Amino acid sequence: MHESPAVRVVLGPGASVAATPGEAERLGLRRLLVVSGPRGAGTARAVADALGDACAGLHPEARMHVPAEVADRAVAVARRTRADGCVAVGGGSAVGLGKMIALRTGLPLIAVPSTYSGSEMTPVWGLTEHGAKRTGRDPSVRPRSVVYDPELTLSLPVALSVTSGINAVAHAAEALYAPDTTPLTSLTAEEGARAMTAALPDLAADPRDLDARGRALYGAWLCGTALGATTMGLHHKLCHVLGGTFGLPHAETHTVVLPYALAFNAPAVPAAMTALGRALGTDDVPYALWDLAGRLGAPRSLAALGLTEADLPVAAREATGRAYPNPRAAGPDDVRELLRAAYAGDRPHVRP
Ligand code: NAD
Repeated sequence: MHESPAVRVVLGPGASVAATPGEAERLGLRRLLVVSGPRGAGTARAVADALGDACAGLHPEARMHVPAEVADRAVAVARRTRADGCVAVGGGSAVGLGKMIALRTGLPLIAVPSTYSGSEMTPVWGLTEHGAKRTGRDPSVRPRSVVYDPELTLSLPVALSVTSGINAVAHAAEALYAPDTTPLTSLTAEEGARAMTAALPDLAADPRDLDARGRALYGAWLCGTALGATTMGLHHKLCHVLGGTFGLPHAETHTVVLPYALAFNAPAVPAAMTALGRALGTDDVPYALWDLAGRLGAPRSLAALGLTEADLPVAAREATGRAYPNPRAAGPDDVRELLRAAYAGDRPHVRP
């Protein structure tokens, strides 16, 4: 079974301002609440100005992992301003806040992403309450329209561009061996990983390279589409625990863990590894990703992200205590060993 959800995608320099009003009009929306994080307020203001009379307000209060009180306030503002739609401008955190407004109010969402998180292409929402992050799937939170503007990402620092890009590659990698993957999803994931890993060295060399920025957003679109179509495995589960329980930063954690998760899963998923190998131009995918992160100056160990050795057994216990689909059974010893290697930042080795 393959489902292709109806979403319009516009990609091009300047599209955030030039295309968002037209997307709103196509959806019949006349009073849009624009949400963003505090750092994205300037860009969000430009989008709000472009909407003109169709803007019901600007709410630049998105925060990482969508805390419940932040969601409550945004929903109240959407109701008070009698918004008939929402535009989320920013990274996964801003899109996540837009999704909570959509979930609670039923308002349609337009996403204008400024990172490569891919959240804009998925029906997955997340909410952090009492220190724990809950996620769920609901078709109503999937943006109806996504406007990718490479100019918005020019300000994304190289370090965050690289880790956010590898976060996208993680979606593609796990989609390739997901239990619900399809031939079309596999093609999408492979092409997404290819586009992203080719764009990252170029934009690291010249962060203002608009062509590379555009190719990275194209990669993010495809990797996000693959994420939205499938159920993620061990890698995403580990990152969820490390982010949720220990507060490690999202994209950086994905960047560190991915080579080790793939080294563990590789023997069970030869076809997925062949596809990723084609995308990256290598026959050692875990090493190639570890090497790419190192060459582009991204963190390569959980220690560098602030995890302590004492956290490792706790993280391993939490990760093994939850159900998730994975192509290779991962027992407590396997997860402990994987986390230990990721903690140290050792060169990843495929273990048969
Ligand atoms: P983010 O949105 O928190 O952004 C990271 C930082 O980058 C923030 O400080 C932000 O202000 C800044 N930033 C964003 N765009 C910028 C730009 N163009 N220029 C300068 N600074 C910029 O982080 P993220 O990695 O995009 O998203 C992570 C969040 O998204 C997590 O909460 C994660 O769980 C969620 N997520 C959800 C899904 C899903 O399908 N639901 C998918 C991926 C990620």
